[in-house]
Amino acid sequence: MTLPPAIREDQDPFATVGLFGGLAHFLIFLRWTSYACPHCQGVFRRDFWPHDVRLGNPTRICRKCGIPFDDGSREWPELRIAQRLRFFLPPGVQATGGALLFCAIFTLFIAPGDVVDLLAGTVVVLIFLSPILVWCLARLLWVLRSKNRFKNDPFSMQRKMGTHGTI
Ligand SMILES: [Zn+2]
Repeated sequence: MTLPPAIREDQDPFATVGLFGGLAHFLIFLRWTSYACPHCQGVFRRDFWPHDVRLGNPTRICRKCGIPFDDGSREWPELRIAQRLRFFLPPGVQATGGALLFCAIFTLFIAPGDVVDLLAGTVVVLIFLSPILVWCLARLLWVLRSKNRFKNDPFSMQRKMGTHGTI
């Protein structure tokens, strides 16, 4: 049985304001996507990152009407490569990583030439990027839990048949 998918709606209040239309691109945190039950239109989640990838069992029982639907979540083995990349490095983390990398390079640039060697450079870059590495490590734990859930969940058999990825 295929469940009806959740209704996705992009909320972009600034797009309708002509004067500030150009600014809308910079106000990404004031845009959000809401997901609603396809049966009763009850909103169950709001995401501030567009196309956020969520790991989990897609079957969700609506709290309002009690009818199941597909909330768009998928377990790790069901994701495509692009979705897997996006799970590890969503746009906000990519931007933060880029800014931190820039700071690391700037630090190396202003440091006296005689103290900067390959080892020092690597250490500086790793220190600056450590928040991103910690983030990826936390995401890895989610992935391992998701793979485990997918392997042990008898109800995912049906979904497994439609999956060509490796488990
Ligand atoms: Zn509902």
